[in-house]
Amino acid sequence: MSTATVVGGGPAGLIAAEVLARAGVTVTIYDRMPSVPRKFLLAGHGGMNITHSEDREPFLARYGLSAERLAPMLDAFTSSELRAWCADLGEPTFVGSSGRVFPQSFRATPLVRAWLGRLGELGVTLERRTRWTGWADDGALRFEGLDGAVASDVVVFALGGASWPRLGSDGGWIGPFVDRGITVAPLRAANVGARVAWSETFATRFEGVPLKNVGLSVAGSRTARGDAMVTRTGIEGGPVYALGAAIRDALDGEDPCVLEVDLRPAVPAEQLVERLRRRRPKESAATWLRRALGLDPVALGLLREAGALPTDPVAMAALVKAVPVEVAEAMPIERAISSAGGIAWSEVDESLMLRALSGTFVAGEMLDWEAPTGGYLLQASFSTGVVAARGALAWLSR
Ligand SMILES: Cc1cc2nc3c(=O)[nH]c(=O)nc-3n(C[C@H](O)[C@H](O)[C@H](O)COP(=O)(O)OP(=O)(O)OC[C@H]3O[C@@H](n4cnc5c(N)ncnc54)[C@H](O)[C@@H]3O)c2cc1C
Repeated sequence: MSTATVVGGGPAGLIAAEVLARAGVTVTIYDRMPSVPRKFLLAGHGGMNITHSEDREPFLARYGLSAERLAPMLDAFTSSELRAWCADLGEPTFVGSSGRVFPQSFRATPLVRAWLGRLGELGVTLERRTRWTGWADDGALRFEGLDGAVASDVVVFALGGASWPRLGSDGGWIGPFVDRGITVAPLRAANVGARVAWSETFATRFEGVPLKNVGLSVAGSRTARGDAMVTRTGIEGGPVYALGAAIRDALDGEDPCVLEVDLRPAVPAEQLVERLRRRRPKESAATWLRRALGLDPVALGLLREAGALPTDPVAMAALVKAVPVEVAEAMPIERAISSAGGIAWSEVDESLMLRALSGTFVAGEMLDWEAPTGGYLLQASFSTGVVAARGALAWLSR
């Protein structure tokens, strides 16, 4: 009987193990943590999006530069198949108003319990507290926590990125891969908030308050819309994460990185000017803006952060459409939801086998792709896990 080693027990590794075990391969999963899959479980705390219900084309576009490489993998294990897989584990899913797909219980725990049970029934062994540290001279795998190196017919690495390192994926795998001459793009924070030096008054009053339905852009990037959350030290949330790559690029440049906040993205500037022209005599700026444009206190606070408020309707409308917020830096990778960078696409073939290492496959976030939140991260982790396992099966039967 063929043997497979899966290194990393996140969603990509576990689904790869399931596909291999179903085909009759003897599978052992190794993970450095005492329990798995920790990040998946954490993702399930606050209403996990397991995938997204969007049509194929807009769905693929979420993967930006990696869309072309990921497309056949997302087709090989689609969001509908992922949903059917969840239902089969006793956890049906539903589509929220945003198109995001949630497990019925909103949590990952029931799914994980059923999944680990199923893997056990399939005969998969899970070795915990075993940290992979590199290859032995004969190509076997070395683990901290194990005597002797591990050899098997095929290997699937699914070691994740480097966000939330205390949950297991800390990017420690990069060293051994680079030593073998495999190109790895540096891991950088993705889906992460931006640090902003708010005034003490603004931070104290509006920490934890959402800027509802705003449009954000940076350095001419496309606008991302949604709710952004003010934090004591910066700004977070979907539209900020969506601009992550543009923010990173701007921070790498010479000029300051300025996030422009459109407080009324659905209303053209000319209409704002019209409404602002009807200012009543002696009306305070706050009342004027509240009455004419319906701005709430946090939006007014943000305008004040930008400096003295203009009294001219045209200048005020321009400010409301693009309140400048200077970003000092991206929040650190420890606070990021995911990471960009990883094993370069040029290093793997279409079955995700490493070109330099026959019989060794990679899957999940350790590959060089990124995507916004909303279910796209887990979907690609699952899809690449399935493709790597199918690739391993094809390689075994070659
Ligand atoms: C707070 C939070 C919320 C999230 N919410 C969502 C969401 O709602 N929707 C969504 O799509 N995505 C979400 N994500 C992202 C999603 O969880 C990840 O993209 C996904 O878990 C990546 O899967 P993976 O299997 O590639 O890697 P991981 O889940 O990171 O698993 C990698 C595994 O490898 C193990 N490992 C690492 N190094 C070693 C080593 N040297 N030896 C042995 N084992 C090792 C780790 O312990 C870990 O178990 C969220 C992430 C966070 C942090």
